Amino acid sequence: MPPQSLKIDNARYIITVDPERRIIQDGSILIENGSVSRVGKAAALANARADRVIEARNFVVTPGFLNGHMHISYAHAVRGIFPDNLGSPLSHVFKLQMAMTEEEEHATTLLGLVELVKNGTVCFVDPGSTKFPDACLQAYQDAGIRVILGDCVTDQDAPFPLPRYDTAEAVTRTMSFLTKWQGRLDGRIYAWAMPFSPETCSADLLKQLKRVADERHTCLTLHHNSGPQARKDSQARNGHTPTEYLESIGVLGPNVVLAHSLGIDDAEIECLARTGATVAMCPVTAAKGGRGVAEFGRMPELLAKRVKIALGCDSPNNSNHLDIVRAMNMAAIQYKDSRQDMRQIPAESALEMATLIGAQALGVGNEIGSIETGKRADLVLFDTQRPEWQTLFNPVNNLVYNADGRSVHTVIIDGRVVVDAYRQSFVDEPKLYAKVQEMGEKLMARTGTTFPRSRWQIV
Ligand SMILES: [Zn+2]
Repeated sequence: MPPQSLKIDNARYIITVDPERRIIQDGSILIENGSVSRVGKAAALANARADRVIEARNFVVTPGFLNGHMHISYAHAVRGIFPDNLGSPLSHVFKLQMAMTEEEEHATTLLGLVELVKNGTVCFVDPGSTKFPDACLQAYQDAGIRVILGDCVTDQDAPFPLPRYDTAEAVTRTMSFLTKWQGRLDGRIYAWAMPFSPETCSADLLKQLKRVADERHTCLTLHHNSGPQARKDSQARNGHTPTEYLESIGVLGPNVVLAHSLGIDDAEIECLARTGATVAMCPVTAAKGGRGVAEFGRMPELLAKRVKIALGCDSPNNSNHLDIVRAMNMAAIQYKDSRQDMRQIPAESALEMATLIGAQALGVGNEIGSIETGKRADLVLFDTQRPEWQTLFNPVNNLVYNADGRSVHTVIIDGRVVVDAYRQSFVDEPKLYAKVQEMGEKLMARTGTTFPRSRWQIV
């Protein structure tokens, strides 16, 4: 398909997230060869012609969103099955994931992709949970989204079933994965090293994977938590706090993304700032999981030290949704409440984490995350002709506090329109919904997973 030019014309507002953080009222964007070639006042671009023009007078345009921690393949088939009084569902989650077939993973991935793109996500990190990436490649291609993939590895015992290998085998697998996947789909596939966590991987494995990531000019992500008990355990085992331990073995750096990172203390935040390591935080997962953001959430301190933070949705049985607009909302409101201080995490900071700062945290800040000449054309057009967008004076406040992903009207990735007037065109949604429902029922039956359908009687 020859590259098409596209013009977004007369936008009500363009929230550029450029270096000056300009919000352009009555603005236009010209897209050529998949990149933003011009952005400015509509009057200044009046003579710019394009193959297709999208009239945007009722739209607020933002950069496309990044989701920094999003287990795409599992849980969709069984979303919402865990009652609130269960406590942690993790052992069931991993059992269900391990039992999934290639066909099931393909279908649940398609469902995840539909939800991601329709809510404005243009790039997401799957932290190694996809078991059959070959089977999902066509889905990634059809959806047009950017995918950060890896092969989840561990070489230590874990409290739940995870892919476990010898250290050398885990390293070899990671190297082969990077060779096979890096840069596919015209550069929209990014392959990373993905050890599961410091607790399930030896220091030797982590060190070797960091070296591989450095040599291949790519990133490494792992699950990371601290808190008083983890600090005590880590001190006893390694003589350091969890984050200092990672620094001591040389595993922190600008190409390392630590997921969750709740409960880190000031010295650990200094480690991240000093080494340039970044963080992917999942605010809705933290709140819904009762993780104690008031005590353990350090987002304001991390941002104050200029640690780059991406937002994530974790999985459809953690946050239960893949809507980064709702994650922005939670990030912006939960610290106001927990610190009893309305100045915490302004709406602009939440939007930065979902766009430019998130892109920088994930190593793709030079390509996407803001609407600037020369960057890839990854854009979201929000429909303001909806009640929740009324009245409109401050577009950033409206986006973060009033709206959610349901007002995403059009999504453009690499200059290609992937959601057009609320519709995607890569899958038949009703058919897919029926198929995944059936798969979920079979998966639960096969694994002997049963929970009451509701705490209330379904008659
Ligand atoms: Zn995770």
